[in-house]
Amino acid sequence: MILPVYTYNHPVLKSVTARIDDMSDEIQVFVSNMFETMYNANGIGLAANQVGKGLAITVIDIQDSESESEQEPPLVMINPVIEAFSDEVEEFEEGCLSLPDLHDKVVRPLAIQVRYCDLHMKQYVREADGLLARVMQHEIDHLNGLYFFERLSPIRRTLASGKLKRIARGDIESAYPIFSGQ
Ligand code: ZN
Repeated sequence: MILPVYTYNHPVLKSVTARIDDMSDEIQVFVSNMFETMYNANGIGLAANQVGKGLAITVIDIQDSESESEQEPPLVMINPVIEAFSDEVEEFEEGCLSLPDLHDKVVRPLAIQVRYCDLHMKQYVREADGLLARVMQHEIDHLNGLYFFERLSPIRRTLASGKLKRIARGDIESAYPIFSGQ
């Protein structure tokens, strides 16, 4: 089932999501809906609070992107936590399904170490770099109530403010279902 994507400035996107202690059939179905929603919107990552549920879940699939990074199967991360960041940073243009039409270059660490559980609540610790690390950081930011524009320099953020106001008003066109209410 395709779910509507909540857009800025819905409060669920500013809330810190709750950790999952026990997997359930309901959550499994929700995760498959998250994938369907992400693919329908041509996204490469989606956080649960972007579809209105305050749970620490993100789905990622960078396979169709034009990245040169190695092929990576679709990934579900439950309760993801970034445990280490590289000193080396990279600037890369990001967009967000909750911020239709807004794109900007964000500086982030190039590589991370992340701890998370899969759908069977099996725990993993892995390292990622390149586009995968970029998307993981963007999505884990969502789970902590952060938008990518909050990582822009003050001047770039000011430049984005007009677009943000339009998105908050719901004055946007979108090729996928959105929920722009409060
Ligand atoms: Zn996003």
